Amino acid sequence: MRIAYACPACSATVMLDGIEARTVLECTACSAEVAIPDDAIGMETPATAAASSSRLNRCLVCPSTELFVRKDFPQQLGVAIVVVGLLASCVAWAWHELIVTFAILFATAAIDVVIYLFMPDCLSCYRCGARYRGDGLRAQRGEFNLETHEKYRQQRARSRQIAGR
Ligand SMILES: [Zn+2]
Ligand SMILES: [Zn+2]
Repeated sequence: MRIAYACPACSATVMLDGIEARTVLECTACSAEVAIPDDAIGMETPATAAASSSRLNRCLVCPSTELFVRKDFPQQLGVAIVVVGLLASCVAWAWHELIVTFAILFATAAIDVVIYLFMPDCLSCYRCGARYRGDGLRAQRGEFNLETHEKYRQQRARSRQIAGR
């Protein structure tokens, strides 16, 4: 399993592999360590899942147990494809190429859908934004929940206010 998280000490983005075998997460920039709680990663019994399938019970970086599944898809890439497709279709439209215009628009949408379908899932923490990826990664699979997201967003805003005083 791999993790990408923001170091609580220096805010650098840290990416680590093989976190099942670790007891601490060490920042590659400032060497600050985050201890992994014993109960954070559970192994599935072979009867219920394929071998080497591990289960994430909670976030390893912060005390949160609330994680959600999202597509491991860079949003900027999706937007860039749409923008390029729109520009190209405008050019085709200006040249009165009606069929080409719609072909470009259709292809743009199709590319986005295909990329989305083939992108693997990753788990993300509502509270600190840490991301977990890996084969056989399982957790209490929660779809993105706006209420939980909002709760943590407001918590962050409050703590910023307090820090700013
Ligand atoms: Zn650090
Ligand atoms: Zn977290």
